Amino acid sequence: MIDETAPIETLKGIGPKTKEFFLRANIHTLGDLLRYYPRRYERMEPPSETASLREGQTAAVYACLSGPLAMRRGKNFQITAGVLRDDSGKIQVIWYNMPFLANTVKSGRKYIFRGKVTRKGQQLLLMQPAVFDIEKYEELQKEMQPVYPLVQGLTETMVKKAEKQALGQIDGTMEVLPLDMRKTYQLSDIGYALAQIHFPAGEHEMQVARRRLVFEEFLIFILSVRRLKQKKEKTKAGYQLRKVQEVQKFSQNLGYELTNAQKTVWAEIESDMQKETAMARLVQGDVGSGKTVIAVMALLMTAENGCQGALMVPTEVLARQHYETICGLFEKNGYRHRVTLLTGSMTAKEKRAAYEEIESGQTAVIVGTHALIQENVTYKKLALTITDEQHRFGVKQREELIGKGKCPHTLVMSATPIPRTLAVILYGDLDISVMNEMPLNRLPIKNCVVDTSYRPKAYHFIQREVEKGHQAYVICPMVEESEAMEAENVIDYTEQLKEALPCDISVAYLHGKMKAKEKNEIMERFVAGEIQVLVSTTVIEVGVNVPNATVMMIENAERFGLAQLHQLRGRVGRGKDQSYCIMIRASEGKVVKERLEILNHSNDGFYIAAQDLKLRGPGDLFGIRQSGMMEFKIGDVFQDAKVLQDANEAAEQLITQDPDLTMEEHQRLRRKIEQYFLEDSESVNL
Ligand code: ADP
Ligand code: MG
Repeated sequence: MIDETAPIETLKGIGPKTKEFFLRANIHTLGDLLRYYPRRYERMEPPSETASLREGQTAAVYACLSGPLAMRRGKNFQITAGVLRDDSGKIQVIWYNMPFLANTVKSGRKYIFRGKVTRKGQQLLLMQPAVFDIEKYEELQKEMQPVYPLVQGLTETMVKKAEKQALGQIDGTMEVLPLDMRKTYQLSDIGYALAQIHFPAGEHEMQVARRRLVFEEFLIFILSVRRLKQKKEKTKAGYQLRKVQEVQKFSQNLGYELTNAQKTVWAEIESDMQKETAMARLVQGDVGSGKTVIAVMALLMTAENGCQGALMVPTEVLARQHYETICGLFEKNGYRHRVTLLTGSMTAKEKRAAYEEIESGQTAVIVGTHALIQENVTYKKLALTITDEQHRFGVKQREELIGKGKCPHTLVMSATPIPRTLAVILYGDLDISVMNEMPLNRLPIKNCVVDTSYRPKAYHFIQREVEKGHQAYVICPMVEESEAMEAENVIDYTEQLKEALPCDISVAYLHGKMKAKEKNEIMERFVAGEIQVLVSTTVIEVGVNVPNATVMMIENAERFGLAQLHQLRGRVGRGKDQSYCIMIRASEGKVVKERLEILNHSNDGFYIAAQDLKLRGPGDLFGIRQSGMMEFKIGDVFQDAKVLQDANEAAEQLITQDPDLTMEEHQRLRRKIEQYFLEDSESVNL
């Protein structure tokens, strides 16, 4: 019987050192390992002619050595070099530390050489190619090789070896889906699914495997959320709050009129918080629809009732910004309520002071990151919890915050543009308010999708906007080790941009690897207008509000999911000035263009999500994930919307048939669900 909880070092070849690498990737047990899915698959490409090779490409050529290999010794390495020739021409080839090749690769005989094409001076060079006999290569071409997400120290080979061993241990005891459900929804068994997701025999097999795994993931999620809801319905709210006049006054002193949508949503929240059962409400509103002020009103009502409210956000930058917004609004209105910030990057001393204010009840409003749910934080009278940008958290984290109080009211805010039918499933334990209206003073964002040759014009455009007193963001994609070649590196990019812009324009950068303190400082200077152009990775994707920024330029826009692009674009167009979004695409292709055109023509998140769904065919499954969206490992709420609906239907049937999952064939499923909210939640740390 397979023990999914067995630590990975029970596998052969995983010693103490290798184990550390696996732990870094959050792989502790066999179960974790088996659910560590490939990021994508690679197929050996058909051989190219040497004359058609291009720099940067990984390619195979069917060629022979044009003479014996030459050997050279460097300080710590040995070079083996030669020239490959086919009918179309020739190319140089180099290996490091592989002197034995001189004996094994025979000149005059044709082999497949597969490696990366690089440039040395004027000449192209095939670097460190693997060498295959043509028959062997033809065999390999049929296979899809998994490519795993890696962390430092962990290699593809290590993961593959470990997966193969773990797969060998799978047996029937791992199956959680009842047989009749698998029949109804045509789902493969778990052994097949895991084997094929790691080492697919072909595209079709991989799709079959993936569908089964996505279904299971959604099903367990849906059932767990339902269980949560049932539990809560039985308990009374810890705090039943009074309506207070102050909130009304506050909303009339904002300097703008609340939109009708904001008014309606507020009325719902205000009424919820006065009820006997605790509020559990999702506010779904597009980027820029003005959710923050609604959160502040709820916090104010709580404070005026003599209780505490906590607002949790996914990034430090956003925590600080919300903190300052709230302090500003409270000060303007002359409120004495104390507001406390709590984030991971604060010093031990600062944290201690914050804990104390929270525990003693001196503070009424607490704003922070995951630091809010750490063990050593004790709240005095936590009557309201709010999670902003919920799609970046897991349900577990939201529940941990709730667990810090005695049945507090809960508000969850999200800008994920998912259709209502899906929202109802995914947020099954929440009532949903939709904020489908933008503040009146907004001009729609103007968009363009262009290729890289447009870059100089874009820079010039940014310069003109800055000269008008505005600010700009430039987004480069995250630099992943293996993709470093294509991705513009943030720091290099910033240097280039500085050169392209007049020197009196202040350009700075922000990326995920920077210390929180540095990030905060940069962000504060951007908010204050000292920095005019901010080059960043997607760390600024969520929530940040700098209404003076009017240009969002996105490099390699084709690499982002549409929902993510929409979030990024949402950083501009937040004030009264005309804003612009320039999406640069580095690759040609009809689909890329079509996808970006959707964004180009619409600023409506709900419409975008629906179109995105239509456009992504089943062949596109592992392509672009809406990264950071919801908490799923393999499922994607957009591309797998149909599976989500199936899983929901299956969940309903199951519950009608066996509400407490007491039947024999539901035992394993039940155990999974009981564990669901207990497992360690991965923390998103940006
Ligand atoms: P999001 O919904 O994306 O969280 P925010 O709450 O950050 O949006 O609001 C974006 C900007 O719109 C803020 O500068 C805020 O002050 C402003 N705002 C909010 N509501 C209104 C309104 N009714 N009229 C005008 N501006 C508003
Ligand atoms: Mg927001």
